[in-house]
Amino acid sequence: MTTRVWDYLDEYANERDDILDAVETVFRSGQLVLGRSLREFEAEFAAYHGMSHCAGVDNGTNALKLGLQALGVGPGDEVITVSNTAAPTVVAIDAVGATPVFVDVHRENYLMDTDQVAAAITPRTRCLLPVHLYGQCVDMEPLTALAAKHDLVILEDCAQAHGARHHGRLAGTMGDAAAFSFYPTKVLGAYGDGGATITDNEQVDRNMRRLRYYGMEDRYYVVATPGHNSRLDEVHAEILRRKLRRLDDYVAGRRAVAQRYAEALADTDLVLPKTVPGNDHVYYVHVVRHPRRDAILEALKTYDIHLNISYPWPVHTMTGFAHLGYARGSLPVTEELAGEIFSLPMYPALSPDTQDKVISALREVLANLS
Ligand SMILES: *Cc1c(COP(=O)(O)O)cnc(C)c1O
Repeated sequence: MTTRVWDYLDEYANERDDILDAVETVFRSGQLVLGRSLREFEAEFAAYHGMSHCAGVDNGTNALKLGLQALGVGPGDEVITVSNTAAPTVVAIDAVGATPVFVDVHRENYLMDTDQVAAAITPRTRCLLPVHLYGQCVDMEPLTALAAKHDLVILEDCAQAHGARHHGRLAGTMGDAAAFSFYPTKVLGAYGDGGATITDNEQVDRNMRRLRYYGMEDRYYVVATPGHNSRLDEVHAEILRRKLRRLDDYVAGRRAVAQRYAEALADTDLVLPKTVPGNDHVYYVHVVRHPRRDAILEALKTYDIHLNISYPWPVHTMTGFAHLGYARGSLPVTEELAGEIFSLPMYPALSPDTQDKVISALREVLANLS
């Protein structure tokens, strides 16, 4: 059987009754959009984080995009982030007319190198957008200090960090607002697209609700532009409510998978993920590193194991972002990583048998690299 980095069918087999009950509950409720399931999910997702507000939206990219707009970020503003991220982080910045400004990442943990942020701040900088990549948090203290000093807002990209903690604090609770994705592969995933923002700022939340609803606060009357249609459907909200109750179990399952990899691969020359001291990692993806990455991925295919790279191209090297004017070599660590990283299968329902198959294939491939 083919092995991939992610699969939801095992989870669906375990949770089928609950998922189908969620669907049935919504379909019988008489409300398919902006109803009770969304209200309850928003209240429960906010409460999980100890935050006062949550606004559900249609995907993580729009959570970032509307989140930026809700915080007042727009044309002419610069937003400092990283190029070692999922492209949608940067697509969202671009979509609101702001300019993404990249700093490099740490060689050890692949996260934003916060030492480089101060030098990237200009009079146009309006927002810091740290990405809690692969399942662990960026070092937030330097960023909150810089934001206070330069009067900047912080939007956390939490699309890969549901349930992750930094010195005990949950991802999404350390900035002015945070954006989440519930894309199916994510640590908390819907059966389709979904997203949300959380914040303690009532005005920002009100902005989010208006932005996702055409610019309306009440029906049929646009009070302010810009407006979008970016609502989270009831059926996804209800599925997410059910799955939120199991979020801590999903995280525990991911940690168990990571622990097994750590034990079984410790004596190889594969560079395994390093948890930054003070962080609780949720292993959205299990990223490893090796200079012979391409040969390893090719050889694994003969075992019917097809792995991913998160991500093969740094955002600043993509033709779609050529207008930003970053030359090759401008973010050396990011560019070096892109040639060496790859991801091992990681999801809570990954069976020990499948994981063992991956481990033994990988050990064989590593031993036979010429
Ligand atoms: C998945 C992801 C997004 C985008 O979320 P979608 O729901 O796919 O739009 C944004 N940022 C990061 C870091 C992601 O991993």
